[in-house]
Amino acid sequence: MTEDTIAAVATALGEGSIAVVRISGPEAVEKIAPLFRSKTDLRQAPTHTVNYGWMVDPVNGAVLDEVLVTVMKGPRSFTAEDVVEISTHGGIVAVQAVLELVLRSGIRMAEPGEFTKRAFLNGRIDLAQAEAVIDLIRSKSNRAFQIAQKQSEGALSKRIVPLRQKLLELLAHVEVNIDYPEHDVADMTAASIKETCGEALKTVEELLKTAAEGKILREGIVTAIVGRPNAGKSSLLNALAQENKAIVTDIPGTTRDIIEETVSLAGIPLRLLDTAGIRETSDVVERIGVERSRGALNEADLILLVLNHAEPLHEDERQLLEELADRPAIVVVNKMDLAGDLELDEVRKRFDEDRIVRISAKEGAGIEALEKAVSKLFFGGGIESEDLTYVSNARHIALLHQAGQSLKDAMASSDEGIPIDLIQIDLASAWERLGEIVGDTASESLLDQIFSQFCLGK
Ligand code: GDP
Ligand code: ZN
Repeated sequence: MTEDTIAAVATALGEGSIAVVRISGPEAVEKIAPLFRSKTDLRQAPTHTVNYGWMVDPVNGAVLDEVLVTVMKGPRSFTAEDVVEISTHGGIVAVQAVLELVLRSGIRMAEPGEFTKRAFLNGRIDLAQAEAVIDLIRSKSNRAFQIAQKQSEGALSKRIVPLRQKLLELLAHVEVNIDYPEHDVADMTAASIKETCGEALKTVEELLKTAAEGKILREGIVTAIVGRPNAGKSSLLNALAQENKAIVTDIPGTTRDIIEETVSLAGIPLRLLDTAGIRETSDVVERIGVERSRGALNEADLILLVLNHAEPLHEDERQLLEELADRPAIVVVNKMDLAGDLELDEVRKRFDEDRIVRISAKEGAGIEALEKAVSKLFFGGGIESEDLTYVSNARHIALLHQAGQSLKDAMASSDEGIPIDLIQIDLASAWERLGEIVGDTASESLLDQIFSQFCLGK
Protein backbone atom coordinates (compact mmCIF):
# COMPACT_ATOMS: atom_id res chain seq x y z
CA MET A 1 0.00 0.00 0.00
CA THR A 2 1.16 3.50 -0.74
CA GLU A 3 1.91 5.85 2.07
CA ASP A 4 0.56 9.22 1.12
CA THR A 5 -2.83 10.54 0.19
CA ILE A 6 -3.41 12.20 -3.17
CA ALA A 7 -6.07 14.42 -4.71
CA ALA A 8 -7.04 15.78 -8.12
CA VAL A 9 -10.03 17.04 -10.05
CA ALA A 10 -11.47 13.93 -11.68
CA THR A 11 -13.85 15.65 -14.07
CA ALA A 12 -12.94 17.73 -17.12
CA LEU A 13 -12.29 21.34 -16.25
CA GLY A 14 -14.87 23.63 -17.73
CA GLU A 15 -18.54 24.41 -17.50
CA GLY A 16 -20.25 21.27 -16.35
CA SER A 17 -23.08 21.04 -13.89
CA ILE A 18 -20.95 19.21 -11.37
CA ALA A 19 -17.25 18.62 -10.84
CA VAL A 20 -15.54 15.99 -8.72
CA VAL A 21 -12.45 16.17 -6.55
CA ARG A 22 -11.13 12.68 -5.94
CA ILE A 23 -8.96 11.84 -2.95
CA SER A 24 -7.24 8.50 -2.41
CA GLY A 25 -5.01 7.15 0.31
CA PRO A 26 -4.90 6.11 3.96
CA GLU A 27 -5.70 9.60 5.28
CA ALA A 28 -8.49 10.40 2.83
CA VAL A 29 -11.35 10.25 5.32
CA GLU A 30 -9.43 11.62 8.28
CA LYS A 31 -8.16 14.68 6.38
CA ILE A 32 -11.44 15.56 4.68
CA ALA A 33 -13.69 15.11 7.73
CA PRO A 34 -12.68 18.44 9.41
CA LEU A 35 -13.38 20.30 6.14
CA PHE A 36 -16.87 18.88 5.76
CA ARG A 37 -19.80 20.28 7.75
CA SER A 38 -22.73 17.90 7.80
CA LYS A 39 -25.18 15.95 9.96
CA THR A 40 -22.83 12.98 9.76
CA ASP A 41 -19.20 12.99 10.79
CA LEU A 42 -17.39 11.60 7.77
CA ARG A 43 -15.31 9.39 10.06
CA GLN A 44 -18.51 7.66 11.12
CA ALA A 45 -19.99 7.43 7.63
CA PRO A 46 -20.40 3.83 6.44
CA THR A 47 -18.50 2.90 3.31
CA HIS A 48 -20.15 3.46 -0.06
CA THR A 49 -22.46 6.20 1.15
CA VAL A 50 -23.15 9.64 -0.25
CA ASN A 51 -23.20 12.40 2.33
CA TYR A 52 -24.74 15.84 1.93
CA GLY A 53 -23.15 18.95 3.44
CA TRP A 54 -20.83 21.94 2.93
CA MET A 55 -17.12 22.35 2.41
CA VAL A 56 -15.93 24.79 5.04
CA ASP A 57 -12.55 26.42 5.53
CA PRO A 58 -11.69 25.44 9.13
CA VAL A 59 -9.46 28.51 9.56
CA ASN A 60 -12.14 31.19 9.09
CA GLY A 61 -15.32 29.14 8.86
CA ALA A 62 -15.99 30.33 5.30
CA VAL A 63 -18.39 28.09 3.36
CA LEU A 64 -16.92 27.21 -0.03
CA ASP A 65 -19.61 25.07 -1.63
CA GLU A 66 -22.58 22.84 -1.06
CA VAL A 67 -21.39 19.34 -1.86
CA LEU A 68 -22.05 15.60 -1.90
CA VAL A 69 -19.25 13.53 -0.45
CA THR A 70 -18.93 9.85 -1.32
CA VAL A 71 -16.88 7.59 0.93
CA MET A 72 -15.50 4.33 -0.45
CA LYS A 73 -13.27 2.40 1.92
CA GLY A 74 -10.56 0.20 0.44
CA PRO A 75 -10.20 -2.35 -0.91
CA ARG A 76 -13.61 -1.91 -2.52
CA SER A 77 -12.65 1.24 -4.40
CA PHE A 78 -11.04 2.10 -7.72
CA THR A 79 -7.54 2.36 -6.21
CA ALA A 80 -8.16 -0.29 -3.53
CA GLU A 81 -7.35 2.49 -1.04
CA ASP A 82 -9.76 4.64 0.93
CA VAL A 83 -11.34 6.99 -1.58
CA VAL A 84 -13.35 10.14 -0.96
CA GLU A 85 -15.06 11.93 -3.83
CA ILE A 86 -16.37 15.44 -3.38
CA SER A 87 -18.99 16.49 -5.94
CA THR A 88 -18.98 20.27 -6.11
CA HIS A 89 -20.90 22.68 -8.25
CA GLY A 90 -19.58 22.87 -11.80
CA GLY A 91 -17.42 25.55 -13.29
CA ILE A 92 -13.84 26.16 -12.41
CA VAL A 93 -14.20 28.35 -9.34
CA ALA A 94 -15.95 26.01 -6.90
CA VAL A 95 -13.91 22.97 -7.73
CA GLN A 96 -10.60 24.84 -7.63
CA ALA A 97 -11.46 26.34 -4.25
CA VAL A 98 -12.32 22.92 -2.88
CA LEU A 99 -9.17 21.39 -4.35
CA GLU A 100 -7.03 24.11 -2.80
CA LEU A 101 -8.66 23.55 0.57
CA VAL A 102 -8.00 19.83 0.28
CA LEU A 103 -4.35 20.38 -0.68
CA ARG A 104 -3.87 22.79 2.24
CA SER A 105 -4.86 20.00 4.61
CA GLY A 106 -1.64 18.20 3.70
CA ILE A 107 -2.93 16.00 0.91
CA ARG A 108 -0.65 15.87 -2.12
CA MET A 109 -1.65 16.74 -5.69
CA ALA A 110 -1.83 13.55 -7.76
CA GLU A 111 0.35 13.02 -10.81
CA PRO A 112 -1.40 12.27 -14.12
CA GLY A 113 -2.57 8.66 -14.06
CA GLU A 114 -1.60 8.17 -10.43
CA PHE A 115 -5.02 6.91 -9.34
CA THR A 116 -4.96 4.27 -12.06
CA LYS A 117 -1.33 3.48 -11.29
CA ARG A 118 -2.25 2.84 -7.67
CA ALA A 119 -5.10 0.62 -8.76
CA PHE A 120 -2.52 -1.34 -10.75
CA LEU A 121 0.15 -1.42 -8.02
CA ASN A 122 -2.44 -2.51 -5.47
CA GLY A 123 -3.44 -5.41 -7.70
CA ARG A 124 -6.89 -4.03 -8.28
CA ILE A 125 -6.44 -4.09 -12.07
CA ASP A 126 -3.71 -5.39 -14.35
CA LEU A 127 -1.73 -3.40 -16.88
CA ALA A 128 -3.96 -4.24 -19.86
CA GLN A 129 -6.94 -3.03 -17.84
CA ALA A 130 -5.14 0.16 -16.88
CA GLU A 131 -4.35 0.84 -20.52
CA ALA A 132 -8.00 0.30 -21.35
CA VAL A 133 -8.79 3.22 -19.06
CA ILE A 134 -6.83 5.46 -21.45
CA ASP A 135 -8.70 3.96 -24.38
CA LEU A 136 -12.02 4.57 -22.67
CA ILE A 137 -11.24 8.25 -22.37
CA ARG A 138 -10.06 8.51 -25.96
CA SER A 139 -12.56 6.28 -27.74
CA LYS A 140 -13.99 7.86 -30.85
CA SER A 141 -17.00 5.63 -31.37
CA ASN A 142 -19.48 3.61 -29.34
CA ARG A 143 -17.92 0.41 -30.52
CA ALA A 144 -14.42 1.49 -29.55
CA PHE A 145 -15.81 2.47 -26.16
CA GLN A 146 -17.43 -0.94 -25.69
CA ILE A 147 -14.20 -2.70 -26.57
CA ALA A 148 -12.21 -0.56 -24.16
CA GLN A 149 -14.81 -1.21 -21.49
CA LYS A 150 -14.59 -4.93 -22.05
CA GLN A 151 -10.82 -4.75 -21.77
CA SER A 152 -11.00 -2.61 -18.67
CA GLU A 153 -13.08 -5.38 -17.16
CA GLY A 154 -10.20 -7.74 -17.85
CA ALA A 155 -11.38 -9.57 -20.96
CA LEU A 156 -7.92 -9.78 -22.48
CA SER A 157 -6.29 -10.68 -19.19
CA LYS A 158 -8.72 -13.57 -18.78
CA ARG A 159 -7.29 -15.12 -21.93
CA ILE A 160 -3.65 -14.37 -21.10
CA VAL A 161 -3.49 -15.46 -17.47
CA PRO A 162 -4.48 -19.15 -17.93
CA LEU A 163 -2.13 -19.34 -20.89
CA ARG A 164 0.78 -18.20 -18.77
CA GLN A 165 -0.19 -20.63 -16.05
CA LYS A 166 0.04 -23.54 -18.49
CA LEU A 167 3.42 -22.32 -19.75
CA LEU A 168 4.64 -22.03 -16.20
CA GLU A 169 3.65 -25.62 -15.48
CA LEU A 170 5.45 -26.71 -18.61
CA LEU A 171 8.53 -24.73 -17.58
CA ALA A 172 8.52 -26.49 -14.21
CA HIS A 173 8.27 -29.80 -16.01
CA VAL A 174 11.20 -28.91 -18.25
CA GLU A 175 13.19 -27.77 -15.22
CA VAL A 176 12.83 -31.19 -13.64
CA ASN A 177 14.05 -32.71 -16.84
CA ILE A 178 17.14 -30.54 -16.88
CA ASP A 179 17.95 -31.17 -13.23
CA TYR A 180 17.38 -34.91 -13.41
CA PRO A 181 18.15 -35.91 -16.99
CA GLU A 182 18.35 -39.58 -16.00
CA HIS A 183 14.74 -39.32 -14.93
CA ASP A 184 12.74 -40.97 -17.64
CA VAL A 185 10.62 -38.03 -18.68
CA ALA A 186 12.38 -36.91 -21.87
CA ASP A 187 9.78 -38.19 -24.31
CA MET A 188 6.96 -37.01 -22.20
CA THR A 189 8.50 -33.56 -22.11
CA ALA A 190 8.77 -33.34 -25.88
CA ALA A 191 5.14 -34.36 -26.19
CA SER A 192 3.93 -31.85 -23.65
CA ILE A 193 6.02 -29.08 -25.19
CA LYS A 194 4.26 -29.70 -28.48
CA GLU A 195 0.86 -29.88 -26.90
CA THR A 196 1.11 -26.91 -24.58
CA CYS A 197 2.90 -24.69 -27.08
CA GLY A 198 0.45 -25.69 -29.78
CA GLU A 199 -2.51 -24.72 -27.64
CA ALA A 200 -0.87 -21.50 -26.51
CA LEU A 201 0.00 -20.60 -30.07
CA LYS A 202 -3.60 -21.14 -31.11
CA THR A 203 -4.82 -18.65 -28.53
CA VAL A 204 -2.11 -16.14 -29.43
CA GLU A 205 -3.04 -16.37 -33.10
CA GLU A 206 -6.73 -16.00 -32.35
CA LEU A 207 -6.00 -12.85 -30.40
CA LEU A 208 -3.80 -11.50 -33.18
CA LYS A 209 -6.55 -12.10 -35.69
CA THR A 210 -8.71 -9.64 -33.80
CA ALA A 211 -5.91 -7.09 -33.86
CA ALA A 212 -6.52 -5.75 -37.34
CA GLU A 213 -10.20 -5.27 -36.60
CA GLY A 214 -9.48 -3.90 -33.17
CA LYS A 215 -7.09 -1.35 -34.58
CA ILE A 216 -9.67 -0.18 -37.06
CA LEU A 217 -12.31 0.14 -34.38
CA ARG A 218 -9.96 2.03 -32.16
CA GLU A 219 -8.18 4.29 -34.57
CA GLY A 220 -10.69 4.47 -37.37
CA ILE A 221 -10.57 3.87 -41.10
CA VAL A 222 -8.78 6.59 -43.03
CA THR A 223 -11.39 7.43 -45.64
CA ALA A 224 -11.35 9.52 -48.79
CA ILE A 225 -14.51 10.71 -50.50
CA VAL A 226 -13.73 11.28 -54.15
CA GLY A 227 -15.63 12.05 -57.32
CA ARG A 228 -16.36 14.66 -59.94
CA PRO A 229 -17.52 18.13 -59.02
CA ASN A 230 -21.23 18.12 -58.28
CA ALA A 231 -21.48 14.38 -57.73
CA GLY A 232 -22.47 15.03 -54.14
CA LYS A 233 -19.29 14.61 -52.09
CA SER A 234 -20.06 17.52 -49.80
CA SER A 235 -23.64 16.36 -49.44
CA LEU A 236 -22.52 12.87 -48.48
CA LEU A 237 -20.10 14.32 -45.96
CA ASN A 238 -22.89 16.39 -44.49
CA ALA A 239 -25.26 13.43 -44.38
CA LEU A 240 -22.63 11.42 -42.51
CA ALA A 241 -21.84 14.28 -40.18
CA GLN A 242 -25.52 14.93 -39.52
CA GLU A 243 -25.98 11.56 -37.91
CA ASN A 244 -22.89 12.20 -35.85
CA LYS A 245 -23.25 15.74 -34.60
CA ALA A 246 -21.98 14.83 -31.17
CA ILE A 247 -18.73 13.21 -32.20
CA VAL A 248 -17.70 15.18 -35.24
CA THR A 249 -14.32 16.58 -34.44
CA ASP A 250 -11.88 18.85 -36.14
CA ILE A 251 -8.33 17.78 -35.75
CA PRO A 252 -6.29 20.43 -37.50
CA GLY A 253 -2.84 19.80 -38.73
CA THR A 254 -1.27 16.64 -39.85
CA THR A 255 1.88 17.70 -41.65
CA ARG A 256 0.14 18.97 -44.73
CA ASP A 257 -2.58 20.80 -42.91
CA ILE A 258 -5.30 18.43 -43.86
CA ILE A 259 -8.42 18.91 -41.84
CA GLU A 260 -9.68 15.62 -40.61
CA GLU A 261 -13.13 14.81 -39.35
CA THR A 262 -14.25 11.63 -37.71
CA VAL A 263 -17.73 10.25 -38.15
CA SER A 264 -19.02 6.95 -36.89
CA LEU A 265 -20.65 4.58 -39.35
CA ALA A 266 -22.27 1.52 -37.76
CA GLY A 267 -19.93 1.98 -34.83
CA ILE A 268 -16.86 2.11 -37.06
CA PRO A 269 -15.01 5.40 -36.90
CA LEU A 270 -14.26 6.83 -40.31
CA ARG A 271 -11.51 9.41 -40.40
CA LEU A 272 -12.42 11.52 -43.37
CA LEU A 273 -9.45 12.86 -45.27
CA ASP A 274 -9.20 16.24 -46.86
CA THR A 275 -12.64 17.38 -45.91
CA ALA A 276 -11.44 20.92 -46.46
CA GLY A 277 -11.34 20.06 -50.15
CA ILE A 278 -14.86 18.74 -50.02
CA ARG A 279 -16.38 21.39 -47.82
CA GLU A 280 -15.57 24.28 -50.16
CA THR A 281 -18.37 25.88 -52.02
CA SER A 282 -16.61 28.04 -54.56
CA ASP A 283 -16.75 26.82 -58.14
CA VAL A 284 -13.09 27.47 -58.76
CA VAL A 285 -12.01 24.95 -56.20
CA GLU A 286 -14.73 22.51 -57.15
CA ARG A 287 -13.32 22.27 -60.63
CA ILE A 288 -10.11 20.73 -59.43
CA GLY A 289 -12.12 18.12 -57.53
CA VAL A 290 -10.73 14.97 -59.03
CA GLU A 291 -7.09 16.04 -59.12
CA ARG A 292 -7.32 17.21 -55.60
CA SER A 293 -8.68 13.83 -54.60
CA ARG A 294 -5.61 12.05 -55.89
CA GLY A 295 -3.46 12.85 -52.87
CA ALA A 296 -6.09 11.60 -50.46
CA LEU A 297 -6.54 8.48 -52.60
CA ASN A 298 -3.05 7.21 -51.90
CA GLU A 299 -3.33 7.50 -48.15
CA ALA A 300 -6.81 6.13 -47.74
CA ASP A 301 -7.75 2.75 -46.26
CA LEU A 302 -11.23 3.22 -47.69
CA ILE A 303 -12.31 5.16 -50.75
CA LEU A 304 -15.86 6.23 -51.38
CA LEU A 305 -16.26 7.07 -55.05
CA VAL A 306 -19.36 9.21 -55.48
CA LEU A 307 -21.10 8.99 -58.85
CA ASN A 308 -24.04 11.02 -60.03
CA HIS A 309 -27.02 8.84 -60.90
CA ALA A 310 -28.52 11.68 -62.96
CA GLU A 311 -25.65 11.84 -65.45
CA PRO A 312 -23.83 9.44 -67.74
CA LEU A 313 -20.44 8.19 -66.71
CA HIS A 314 -17.65 10.67 -67.39
CA GLU A 315 -14.18 9.83 -68.67
CA ASP A 316 -12.65 10.90 -65.32
CA GLU A 317 -14.89 8.43 -63.57
CA ARG A 318 -14.02 5.59 -65.92
CA GLN A 319 -10.42 6.15 -65.05
CA LEU A 320 -11.15 6.22 -61.33
CA LEU A 321 -13.21 3.02 -61.56
CA GLU A 322 -10.29 1.28 -63.20
CA GLU A 323 -7.85 2.61 -60.64
CA LEU A 324 -10.01 1.72 -57.68
CA ALA A 325 -11.14 -1.74 -58.73
CA ASP A 326 -8.41 -3.44 -56.72
CA ARG A 327 -8.49 -1.01 -53.84
CA PRO A 328 -10.77 -1.06 -50.80
CA ALA A 329 -13.28 1.16 -52.55
CA ILE A 330 -17.04 1.46 -52.57
CA VAL A 331 -18.98 3.05 -55.41
CA VAL A 332 -21.64 5.35 -54.02
CA VAL A 333 -24.28 6.10 -56.63
CA ASN A 334 -25.80 9.35 -55.42
CA LYS A 335 -28.93 11.30 -56.38
CA MET A 336 -31.08 8.18 -56.63
CA ASP A 337 -34.05 10.47 -56.05
CA LEU A 338 -33.51 11.84 -59.57
CA ALA A 339 -34.26 10.12 -62.87
CA GLY A 340 -31.12 8.30 -63.97
CA ASP A 341 -28.76 8.48 -66.92
CA LEU A 342 -25.97 6.53 -65.31
CA GLU A 343 -25.30 3.10 -66.81
CA LEU A 344 -24.04 0.75 -64.12
CA ASP A 345 -22.82 -1.95 -66.50
CA GLU A 346 -19.41 -0.46 -66.63
CA VAL A 347 -19.28 -0.16 -62.87
CA ARG A 348 -20.41 -3.75 -62.42
CA LYS A 349 -17.60 -4.96 -64.64
CA ARG A 350 -15.15 -3.97 -61.93
CA PHE A 351 -17.20 -3.88 -58.74
CA ASP A 352 -19.48 -6.59 -57.41
CA GLU A 353 -22.86 -5.66 -55.94
CA ASP A 354 -21.46 -5.66 -52.40
CA ARG A 355 -19.35 -2.68 -53.33
CA ILE A 356 -22.06 -0.64 -55.06
CA VAL A 357 -24.36 1.39 -52.88
CA ARG A 358 -27.26 3.61 -53.94
CA ILE A 359 -28.04 6.66 -51.91
CA SER A 360 -29.64 10.04 -51.94
CA ALA A 361 -27.43 12.29 -49.89
CA LYS A 362 -30.01 15.01 -50.17
CA GLU A 363 -32.73 12.88 -48.60
CA GLY A 364 -30.37 10.98 -46.33
CA ALA A 365 -31.48 7.70 -47.92
CA GLY A 366 -29.24 4.65 -48.27
CA ILE A 367 -26.80 5.47 -45.49
CA GLU A 368 -27.64 2.14 -43.88
CA ALA A 369 -26.68 0.30 -47.06
CA LEU A 370 -23.40 2.18 -47.00
CA GLU A 371 -22.86 1.08 -43.40
CA LYS A 372 -23.41 -2.53 -44.42
CA ALA A 373 -21.01 -2.26 -47.33
CA VAL A 374 -18.28 -0.76 -45.17
CA SER A 375 -18.62 -3.34 -42.44
CA LYS A 376 -18.67 -6.11 -45.04
CA LEU A 377 -15.50 -4.78 -46.65
CA PHE A 378 -13.59 -4.56 -43.37
CA PHE A 379 -15.15 -7.22 -41.22
CA GLY A 380 -16.41 -9.69 -43.80
CA GLY A 381 -19.99 -9.32 -42.71
CA GLY A 382 -20.82 -8.43 -39.17
CA ILE A 383 -18.74 -6.95 -36.43
CA GLU A 384 -21.45 -8.11 -34.06
CA SER A 385 -18.92 -10.35 -32.41
CA GLU A 386 -20.31 -11.63 -29.12
CA ASP A 387 -16.88 -11.54 -27.72
CA LEU A 388 -15.52 -8.03 -27.84
CA THR A 389 -12.05 -9.13 -26.85
CA TYR A 390 -10.31 -7.22 -29.58
CA VAL A 391 -6.60 -6.72 -29.17
CA SER A 392 -6.24 -3.15 -30.26
CA ASN A 393 -3.23 -1.84 -28.41
CA ALA A 394 0.00 -1.69 -30.43
CA ARG A 395 2.05 -2.74 -27.41
CA HIS A 396 -0.09 -5.82 -26.85
CA ILE A 397 0.04 -6.74 -30.52
CA ALA A 398 3.84 -6.55 -30.63
CA LEU A 399 4.14 -8.68 -27.49
CA LEU A 400 1.72 -11.28 -28.85
CA HIS A 401 3.77 -11.50 -32.03
CA GLN A 402 6.96 -12.02 -30.03
CA ALA A 403 5.35 -14.60 -27.78
CA GLY A 404 3.98 -16.42 -30.82
CA GLN A 405 7.43 -16.52 -32.40
CA SER A 406 9.01 -17.93 -29.23
CA LEU A 407 6.34 -20.63 -29.07
CA LYS A 408 6.99 -21.56 -32.70
CA ASP A 409 10.73 -21.66 -32.04
CA ALA A 410 10.24 -23.92 -29.02
CA MET A 411 8.09 -26.32 -31.03
CA ALA A 412 10.54 -26.42 -33.94
CA SER A 413 13.51 -26.94 -31.61
CA SER A 414 11.72 -29.74 -29.87
CA ASP A 415 11.08 -31.42 -33.24
CA GLU A 416 14.72 -31.13 -34.14
CA GLY A 417 15.84 -32.65 -30.88
CA ILE A 418 17.67 -29.54 -29.75
CA PRO A 419 18.81 -29.68 -26.09
CA ILE A 420 16.05 -28.92 -23.72
CA ASP A 421 17.80 -26.11 -21.87
CA LEU A 422 17.79 -24.14 -25.13
CA ILE A 423 14.09 -24.79 -25.62
CA GLN A 424 13.55 -23.61 -22.11
CA ILE A 425 14.83 -20.16 -23.11
CA ASP A 426 12.11 -19.85 -25.74
CA LEU A 427 9.43 -21.02 -23.35
CA ALA A 428 10.54 -18.58 -20.70
CA SER A 429 10.60 -15.79 -23.24
CA ALA A 430 7.02 -16.53 -24.35
CA TRP A 431 5.93 -16.57 -20.71
CA GLU A 432 7.64 -13.24 -20.08
CA ARG A 433 6.26 -11.46 -23.16
CA LEU A 434 2.74 -12.50 -22.20
CA GLY A 435 3.43 -11.30 -18.70
CA GLU A 436 4.32 -7.86 -20.00
CA ILE A 437 0.83 -7.54 -21.44
CA VAL A 438 -0.80 -7.89 -18.05
CA GLY A 439 2.05 -6.15 -16.25
CA ASP A 440 3.46 -9.06 -14.26
CA THR A 441 6.84 -8.74 -15.89
CA ALA A 442 6.76 -5.07 -16.86
CA SER A 443 9.70 -2.81 -16.07
CA GLU A 444 9.50 0.37 -14.03
CA SER A 445 10.27 2.53 -17.07
CA LEU A 446 7.53 0.88 -19.09
CA LEU A 447 5.06 1.59 -16.31
CA ASP A 448 6.15 5.22 -16.15
CA GLN A 449 5.75 5.56 -19.87
CA ILE A 450 2.28 4.06 -19.87
CA PHE A 451 0.92 6.00 -16.93
CA SER A 452 2.34 9.29 -18.13
CA GLN A 453 -0.14 9.14 -21.02
CA PHE A 454 -3.00 9.64 -18.64
CA CYS A 455 -4.63 12.94 -17.97
CA LEU A 456 -4.72 14.49 -14.55
CA GLY A 457 -7.31 13.08 -12.19
CA LYS A 458 -7.39 9.59 -13.65
P1 GDP B 1 -19.71 17.92 -54.71
O1 GDP B 1 -19.27 18.92 -55.69
O2 GDP B 1 -19.37 16.55 -55.15
O3 GDP B 1 -19.26 18.20 -53.33
O4 GDP B 1 -21.32 17.96 -54.74
P2 GDP B 1 -22.27 18.70 -53.71
O5 GDP B 1 -22.48 17.87 -52.50
O6 GDP B 1 -21.83 20.07 -53.51
O7 GDP B 1 -23.64 18.64 -54.52
C1 GDP B 1 -23.78 19.23 -55.79
C2 GDP B 1 -25.23 19.54 -56.03
O8 GDP B 1 -25.99 18.34 -56.06
C3 GDP B 1 -25.86 20.38 -54.94
O9 GDP B 1 -26.74 21.29 -55.53
C4 GDP B 1 -26.60 19.38 -54.10
O10 GDP B 1 -27.72 19.94 -53.45
C5 GDP B 1 -27.03 18.39 -55.13
N1 GDP B 1 -27.20 17.05 -54.54
C6 GDP B 1 -26.31 16.38 -53.77
N2 GDP B 1 -26.80 15.16 -53.44
C7 GDP B 1 -28.02 15.08 -54.01
C8 GDP B 1 -29.04 14.05 -54.03
O11 GDP B 1 -28.92 12.97 -53.44
N3 GDP B 1 -30.16 14.32 -54.74
C9 GDP B 1 -30.33 15.50 -55.40
N4 GDP B 1 -31.47 15.66 -56.06
N5 GDP B 1 -29.41 16.47 -55.40
C10 GDP B 1 -28.28 16.28 -54.72
ZN1 ZN C 1 -18.31 19.87 -52.68
